[in-house]
Amino acid sequence: MTGISIPFNKAGLRGPEFDYISQALSAGHVSGDGPFTKKCQKILQEQLGVPRALLTTSCTHALEMAALLLRLKPGDEFIVPSFTFVSTANAFVLRGAKPVFADIRSDTLNLDETKLEGHITPRTRAIVPVHYAGVGCEMDPILSLAHHHGIVVVEDNAHGLYGKYRGRFLGTFGALATLSFHETKNITCGEGGALLVNDPQLIERAEIIWEKGTNRSRFFRGQVDKYTWVDIGSSYVLSDILSAFLFAQLESASIIQQRRQEIWTYYHTHLKSWADRNQVRLPRVPEHCQQAYHMFYLLFPDLDTRQAMIRHLKEQGILSVFHYLPLHLSDMGHQFGGQPGDCPVTEWVSDRLLRLPFFNPLTWEEQERVVAAMMNFNP
Ligand SMILES: *Cc1c(COP(=O)(O)O)cnc(C)c1O
Repeated sequence: MTGISIPFNKAGLRGPEFDYISQALSAGHVSGDGPFTKKCQKILQEQLGVPRALLTTSCTHALEMAALLLRLKPGDEFIVPSFTFVSTANAFVLRGAKPVFADIRSDTLNLDETKLEGHITPRTRAIVPVHYAGVGCEMDPILSLAHHHGIVVVEDNAHGLYGKYRGRFLGTFGALATLSFHETKNITCGEGGALLVNDPQLIERAEIIWEKGTNRSRFFRGQVDKYTWVDIGSSYVLSDILSAFLFAQLESASIIQQRRQEIWTYYHTHLKSWADRNQVRLPRVPEHCQQAYHMFYLLFPDLDTRQAMIRHLKEQGILSVFHYLPLHLSDMGHQFGGQPGDCPVTEWVSDRLLRLPFFNPLTWEEQERVVAAMMNFNP
């Protein structure tokens, strides 16, 4: 065996990245909030129809900004799916708030909106839905529940950029939403993210927190005659060099999304009857959700079969991965009272889910090899 020949992920370039980065270097403004940062924010605002987008150093940092904006403090609670990345919880835990782990639906693997009400207490301040694999959560019932109880919704939309729920872009429902431009995401600049501010009342303070607690943004708009320390904040602004990289990707969003749709559809079409014969479940996308084609996963009948498939693919040079150990069963989760059995669907899925290689420059020939390798698997 020669090692891995089809990786799980690889960054795909569109072409203009090099040119834009060299433009940023020549222009001399390489810190944040430069010309490319502004272009990226503008294009995101236009594409999604959001009032304000702020580029950040990561989705993790955008989530931290959300926790600062909501003034979360010890004693507060927030509801988060157990089936998500660590940062969805950690950003709020950093402010001293307590995560309340909620289970997911077995069809979309998204926050189970029917179980949310049972988690709400007088201390609940936020609900943080994650649009898993870029398929929208049931935002109508989630928003109406949140509204009824005076709770803020922050969408962790790391997977769902350009996905839609009932015709509306993911990331435009919550008062705040976050995006990730990490190498593993649809659109990337290596490491990066964005905070989408949908509630206009939060825009001014979001800019202040973003600019290290200063009113620098207002100063540059000429709204104040000097800028100074006005609030808490930190260093969340993305360098213009990375913004230049990102702009090349955002400009080609429709080509990237088209390609990802093709990759997803190829897997789905070619694996469907094999999956049916082997009690393997393919992703389910409800009629009213237009997915963002972030990943292709399969659900195996049990843990042993999934592990055997990972080994089998690896022997053929193909890297496939599982996803998300339940947060409520992690070391940190236990400290917040997490126990086995708290989120049964999450625990079931975590043992059975497998993600196939999925990246923009994945070739047809490589996809053919992945599919062929899966078909000659004998557990
Ligand atoms: C990738 C990811 C993050 C973190 O993104 P970074 O940009 O790496 O900080 C957060 N939440 C989810 C659901 C993710 O998939």
